[in-house]
Amino acid sequence: MDSTTLIRLNLDIKEKPIGKSLRFNAAVEEIKKINGKNNKIVVLSHRGRPDGVENSLSLKSFAPLLSKAIGKKVLFLDNSDLDKAADIIRNSSKEKIFLLENVRFLKGETENNLVLARRLSKLGTEFISDDFATSHRADASLAAITRFIPSKPGNLLKEEVKNLSLAFKKPKSPFVLLIGGAKAKDKVGVIKSLIKRADLVMVGGAAANTFLKSRGMDIKDSLYEPDMLQVARRLLKNKKLAIPTDFIWDDNKILDIGPQTIKLYSFYLKSARFIIWNGPMGMFEKKQFAAGTQAMAKAVFSNRKSSAVIGGGETVSALSLKNQIQHPKPNIFLSTGGGAMLEFLAGEKMAGLEAVMKKNRAK
Ligand code: ADP
Ligand code: MG
Repeated sequence: MDSTTLIRLNLDIKEKPIGKSLRFNAAVEEIKKINGKNNKIVVLSHRGRPDGVENSLSLKSFAPLLSKAIGKKVLFLDNSDLDKAADIIRNSSKEKIFLLENVRFLKGETENNLVLARRLSKLGTEFISDDFATSHRADASLAAITRFIPSKPGNLLKEEVKNLSLAFKKPKSPFVLLIGGAKAKDKVGVIKSLIKRADLVMVGGAAANTFLKSRGMDIKDSLYEPDMLQVARRLLKNKKLAIPTDFIWDDNKILDIGPQTIKLYSFYLKSARFIIWNGPMGMFEKKQFAAGTQAMAKAVFSNRKSSAVIGGGETVSALSLKNQIQHPKPNIFLSTGGGAMLEFLAGEKMAGLEAVMKKNRAK
């Protein structure tokens, strides 16, 4: 078989327009990099969490988008018959680029099924794992596939690991961790894992409400998580943990941090030398509750002496509203990972990532 590179990328994109999203741009750059080396390319990816085949989650519409961005035709390939797909790839001319239909339409994908992984491996001659945002999962097209085909981590994956690892490798001080967003439950693991290393942990967004409530504040109808109150109370004993002192209320709900908190958090972000930020400070989708998140972005982007890692689906899309994705700063790394970023920073084992890293070490 001609040399054929199977590459797992992340096209699970909810923002509009797709062409402006961080994940799409990252995938396009990566395809461009590996294109033109006398090899065929087959892109493996998923969208959403389909139960079997769900047409609304097809990747078909992504083929023309990719073609346009890459400047070379990308052929969409149905995956209902993988032998047929393999034939089409084999019989195609060199340097063709294919996009396979949503791998999650295939039975066994999310169960890391070995039979499926083996069949997918037959589509190429080498495998590049480059979907960081899914690499906390044990999926067949990420983990099990590495058993059947020479496999290596791609550039995107390596960049993510390098940048997120900064948190564990003597980060520059002051190291400020900024955590916001909706669910305290998802974020507590990161706080626990990094509070020893950070100089300051600042919490905002709905995640802060649970902390405020655990201290006895009357947060009225604000979003919070009852089963996290005890953990929050315990974490608050640590003097490094900061919570908001004033708020923007609407309809008895806290929906953004207030001006005093903005001032204080901005001050600390401006004096930081290393920053990790995940989670918006408020319901930023509505203009009247976006001030907190926008102020944090401004403080991080204006601090030229600090390196920063920013991640989280909504956090990054809050930035893209202001076009910060199209004009990246060298000292700021935007992570494509949501849950994967959180698990990595919480120090958890990541099945997809481990599978390809192990393979690579053994070679
Ligand atoms: P990310 O995707 O960046 O990790 P999350 O998914 O944890 O972030 O949370 C993002 C969501 O949190 C946003 O849609 C935002 O509207 C919501 N949010 C933030 N603060 C509040 C708040 N105080 N009340 C209600 N929703 C909030
Ligand atoms: Mg989110």
